[in-house]
Amino acid sequence: MAEIIDGRQLAKDVNQETKQRVDKLREQGIQPGIVVILVGDDPASEIYTRNKHRKATKLGFKSILKKFPADVDQATVMAAVEQYNADDSIDGILVQEPLPDQLDGLAITNAIRPDKDVDGLHPLNLGKLYANQPGHYPVACTPRGIMTMFDRYNVDLEGKNAVIVGRSILVGKPMAALLNNANATTCLTSIHTVDLPAITRQADILIVAAGSPHLIKEEDVKEGAVVIDVGINRLASGKLTGDVDFENVSKVAKLITPVPGGVGPMTIASLMQQTVDMAEWRHNG
Ligand code: NAD
Repeated sequence: MAEIIDGRQLAKDVNQETKQRVDKLREQGIQPGIVVILVGDDPASEIYTRNKHRKATKLGFKSILKKFPADVDQATVMAAVEQYNADDSIDGILVQEPLPDQLDGLAITNAIRPDKDVDGLHPLNLGKLYANQPGHYPVACTPRGIMTMFDRYNVDLEGKNAVIVGRSILVGKPMAALLNNANATTCLTSIHTVDLPAITRQADILIVAAGSPHLIKEEDVKEGAVVIDVGINRLASGKLTGDVDFENVSKVAKLITPVPGGVGPMTIASLMQQTVDMAEWRHNG
């Protein structure tokens, strides 16, 4: 049976370290600041942003939850981004996806100052990640949290076969870059992939971020693999489930994340970590 990666406990540990760093910065008269921009009233987005705001406040950040109605126009959101770009008390700006159709999300992402792009989605930051450049730049928080899991659970990545299911800019693509930069042999798959199970069965490290409940079954996983389930799917019953058939895949995997209690808490912990990083980079170099 697989060992279960305890994302909640790991997030607690990381948050404790973050709190100590925030306290240290505050001794220098610096309070890290984060703003989360939420458009509309999508219930899941409301919960995610509220959780981020609460955690940031609890850890001692200046935290702003900036809400706009669903019918807000592009110019209003762009003006808010510009305002926070210029606000010296703000280190990280995050725009919660999904955005309503009338908004040009790409233009909004591209308008965020790269050194305040706490979600790591600006093309400059993504480009640096893909080029494996040295130096300081933010990376998407979900993949960052997964890399922390590998580190804390002593998962060796060098030379391993890593398969990522799902190629979004938020999860799959930065995950592939991070794993490849860590010398794993990386395969990035999507809905267009032919015979996905034949590929996932090769994986020593399998990361699933497709948004498809129970997509990955026991027979799709190699014995002894490390399986990370990013998916969050709400079933008709109201129950949350991942993209992996946890119960059966646990029989063959070596390490596995549950949903809930795996990647989710680590995403928020990584967002907090990255906000402090960005405050330190901006103020202390
Ligand atoms: P997305 O919809 O932007 O991308 C999904 C990707 O999966 C696409 O590249 C698509 O081609 C691929 N895909 C879909 N079905 C597939 C299939 N049957 N076979 C192979 N590939 C398939 O999604 P996203 O934003 O990357 O999110 C993915 C999932 O992860 C969602 O359930 C989302 O809620 C969840 N998520 C969780 C966290 C977290 O903190 N735990 C963070 C972000 C996203």
